[in-house]
Order: sequence, then C-alpha cells, then structure tokens
Amino acid sequence: MLSTYHTHSVFCDGEMMPEDYVVAAIKKGFSAIGFTSHAPVLFNTDWTMKPENLCKYIDTIKGLQEKYKEQIQIYTGLETDFYPNSRNFGDYPGIDYTIGSVHFIYDEKNDRYLTVDGPAGEYRDLLHNVFNDDIRAFVETYFDRLGEMIKMQPPDIVGHLDVIKKNNTNSLYFNETDKWYRNKVEEILNIISKTNVIVEVNTGGISRGYTSEVYPSEWILKLIREMDIPVVLNSDAHHPDLIDSYYTEAVKILKNIGFTHQRVLYNGHWQNVLL
Ligand SMILES: [Zn+2]
Ligand SMILES: [Zn+2]
Repeated sequence: MLSTYHTHSVFCDGEMMPEDYVVAAIKKGFSAIGFTSHAPVLFNTDWTMKPENLCKYIDTIKGLQEKYKEQIQIYTGLETDFYPNSRNFGDYPGIDYTIGSVHFIYDEKNDRYLTVDGPAGEYRDLLHNVFNDDIRAFVETYFDRLGEMIKMQPPDIVGHLDVIKKNNTNSLYFNETDKWYRNKVEEILNIISKTNVIVEVNTGGISRGYTSEVYPSEWILKLIREMDIPVVLNSDAHHPDLIDSYYTEAVKILKNIGFTHQRVLYNGHWQNVLL
C-alpha cells in the first residue's frame, strides 16, 4: 500500500497547505497520509511550528480527515525534537503519533542550538565550536542523543536515523565503513530492538538532492532486517510533488535486502502490511 507518515506543510517549513498534499496523495493512489509538522521548540527557529499554531494545526488536519474520509486515511502527527528539557508530545491531545528526531546540538560557547542536518557551514561550526573538530565525538554525541531519546521519550517512529551523514557527501568528514561508526550504529539498533519503535526509511534526503542513499544507508537496513526491527517508508516531503519520491527504488532496495513488510498506521492502529 502507498503511504507516508512524514509530511511538512506551511505549518512549519513545508511549501504548501496540508490539503494540497492530501489531493496529491489521493491522485497518486495513496491509502494513508500522516502530517508531521516540526513540533514547537523552547527556542527560536525559522522552521519549527510556532507554539500558538499547534491547535490550529491539529484542527486543520482533523478537518481534512473528515472531509476526505471516503478517499484516504489522514493522521495527525508531529516530528518532535529531543534536547535537554524538550517537551514530550506523545500524549498531546489530538496527536495520533510522533516521529522522534534529533536535529539540535547545543553550542554552549555561543548559547545557541545548531542543527546536525543544516547547511554545510552550520555543520562545520558545530564540529569546530562544540567538538574542537573531532568528528568522531560529534557523530557519537548525535547517536547518543538518539539513544537517550529512544530510552526516555520513545516515539512511534525514529526519524532519519543517520541524518548525520547529510553533510558527509563523498565521505568528506568520516567513512561509514570505519569501525567506530559501525559500532555506534549497532549500539543504537540494539537499543531500538528492545522497544516497539519503528525505523523510517526516509527518501527525503535523496529527493531534495542531499544524499545518494536513503536514511538509513543500505548496510544499516541489512542489520535492521537481521534484528527484525520494523520499518516504514516515508518521503519526508516538503512539497506535494515529492510525496512518493524515490519510492519505487526504495521498495526495490528493501525487497532485495529481504524485507517483505512495512509497519503502517492504518484503520487506527499500527500493523504490518506487504511492501
Ligand atoms: Zn527531520
Ligand atoms: Zn521531516
């Protein structure tokens, strides 16, 4: 079945109104679409939802759910962030599910939050200012934060697991075959495997031209398969045209690895469906 549970609209950094994505999804024959605006955070950014818009966001998606109920299932989610004192939106009224992502690392020297998946300059700043150019410390801190999130505020889905590679084109900073990197990824997968958290296969990095592979990389997906961790295919679309971007290829990759099912939210509960 065609679906995506990771969608950004004008409520955060997406380009179009939620309804535009619903119409596109129906046209493409989707069975379900979930919206996941970037949840409000405790500091200023120009890409997360403003706290005062949260109610309107939920009302808007619920309205669409009712309007299009004969054609497609629509779910109200949030892409939440994990940082010290971050709010847990898992039980927030009206929220059907959460995608938990780590985007921020705190730059203490300059009292600001920098993003691990931001522009190249921001990544360099983070590496230099916070980690004294120690890429291993940077990457391991990112994964440690992800592990803490899964233990302390487990979301339904873990977002773009290895987004730390976004600025690592041509292994500019590190090599995914390095033993320390593989060990760290395995450590996180071990934590995930003890929970019900689903790992998303996120095609957003490819469709926006940032990466050459989906998140997570194929070798990680192989480990995920071996460990029997559930996956869900998501496009992380910021524009309706991209809601199924790279899906054909991603399904092929997953099937080649041995996946037969994905876990989706359908008829109100998470269930395994054929890929
Ligand atoms: Zn994200
Ligand atoms: Zn996203």
